[in-house]
Amino acid sequence: MGVISEVEEMIDKKGSDLYGSEAVTQREHALQCAALAEVENAPASLIAAALLHDIGHLLEKDFEAGMRNGEDRFHENLGEIYLKSHFGPEVTEPVRMHVDAKRYLCATDPEYFSKLSPASVHTLRLQGGPMNEEEAEAFIAQPYAKDAVRLRIWDDCGKDPQMKTEPVDYYLSYVNQCVQS
Ligand code: FE
Repeated sequence: MGVISEVEEMIDKKGSDLYGSEAVTQREHALQCAALAEVENAPASLIAAALLHDIGHLLEKDFEAGMRNGEDRFHENLGEIYLKSHFGPEVTEPVRMHVDAKRYLCATDPEYFSKLSPASVHTLRLQGGPMNEEEAEAFIAQPYAKDAVRLRIWDDCGKDPQMKTEPVDYYLSYVNQCVQS
């Protein structure tokens, strides 16, 4: 099966689970992040990354149980490993770094922390808390770090039960443009 149909099936089958304790499903969250990226004229690779950034949650059978036990399941790494066989770093790196981007934003933007949802504050603690100054500088100097920060902001906004988006197919066409094998 090609990666596009594989992703489509994953979003279809597992996407109706709630996104942690947020008010939207995994599918809605993915679509909203992609829609926000498109509105901001992000390149296809970053729209694809926005759609796929939480694919690690869909790859994991027992994501909900992990969340309940208060463990960090490192979904950003699971997602990156899966995507790496089909996409270049312009897609996989923002996915890998989207959790650290939250830790970065908490360290550098005083407004940011106050806007996080309770679920996101909870996972922040599991993920290592805000970066210190040195970590933040090292983080943002990496290639694709700025893309990861953009993705992170869409990630935080894509939790709106009222938001309307296009269907999965529509955003998969961006993903299709980025497939390498
Ligand atoms: Fe997310």
